[in-house]
Amino acid sequence: MKSEDCKIMDSECHLNRIENWHNNFESDISLMIETLKKLNASSIEATEECSRHYTNTIELTKAKSSFTFEVSHELKAPLASVYNIINVILDGYLDGDINKQKEYLNRAKLRIKSIIDLLNDLLVFSRLEERANELEKEEFNIAELFASIIEEMTEYADSRSIEINWNLCDDCPLIYGNAELIRRVFTNIIHNAVKYSRHGNKVEVTGKIDENRFLLRVEDHGIGIKEEETQKIFDIFYRGENTRRDSKREGIGLGLSLVRRIVDAHGGCIKLKSKLQEGTTVEVRFPEFQKEEK
Ligand code: ATP
Ligand code: MG
Repeated sequence: MKSEDCKIMDSECHLNRIENWHNNFESDISLMIETLKKLNASSIEATEECSRHYTNTIELTKAKSSFTFEVSHELKAPLASVYNIINVILDGYLDGDINKQKEYLNRAKLRIKSIIDLLNDLLVFSRLEERANELEKEEFNIAELFASIIEEMTEYADSRSIEINWNLCDDCPLIYGNAELIRRVFTNIIHNAVKYSRHGNKVEVTGKIDENRFLLRVEDHGIGIKEEETQKIFDIFYRGENTRRDSKREGIGLGLSLVRRIVDAHGGCIKLKSKLQEGTTVEVRFPEFQKEEK
């Protein structure tokens, strides 16, 4: 109702008009309050989202610089050693002593090999992170893989006076995957079991079919891992406390992080159980005959 619709003396009409106006005003105000509340809530949400992104970015930046630090640190020592060896030879300290020259060059060769191995591992690592679904896969026989692993690992175990008991299925299954990477999984786990065992310990390696999956179980009776560390040891460059006072057990903390990524890229799973000073058991399972869905 408009004001001109009321006669000047018609107070009832004017009162109705004021009441109407009041009611409209109230509902407009509560609509405005609702809208303000919604705006406020979405601006709080947006602020929280921004702060989450900010925290993520800071964490990623920190992870990136710590990765760069670790890699540079690992490359620096062998490169410095090769540099020193070249200087010794160029400065003529070994002139006339062919045997010593050969010995020094062999040392340099080993250091360079360790750099190449590290770079290869890092390449595999980043390839798995960025393009895990582009892995070259084929059907291959686990038994064939083991033939060469047994030789390599037995040699390593002998050098540390550890005995490995091999319990492998006669009719090992076919696996659909990248044989070279799965080989790395098996050798890394067995290598760890030997490395973290004590002189004279035994390591049990079992390979069998378990609920349509291939299961590799590696059990050692070595130094074990603290319970609170059993998840962290899968992080890149993380080394357990058990290695801190022990320079005989060399490593850079890359093995298990690589293992986890390879296992994930094959749809497998990995479990680790350990007790400090008592030993560690690692189980990896890979799907049998798995083909990529087309
Ligand atoms: P590398 O890169 O040469 O493998 P690494 O053996 O230290 O070095 P990982 O294989 O990633 O690295 O293992 C991470 C950590 O987990 C080790 O430093 C060690 O503390 C602990 N660990 C792994 N396997 C065992 C094991 N079988 N027994 C005891 N500790 C283990
Ligand atoms: Mg290792």
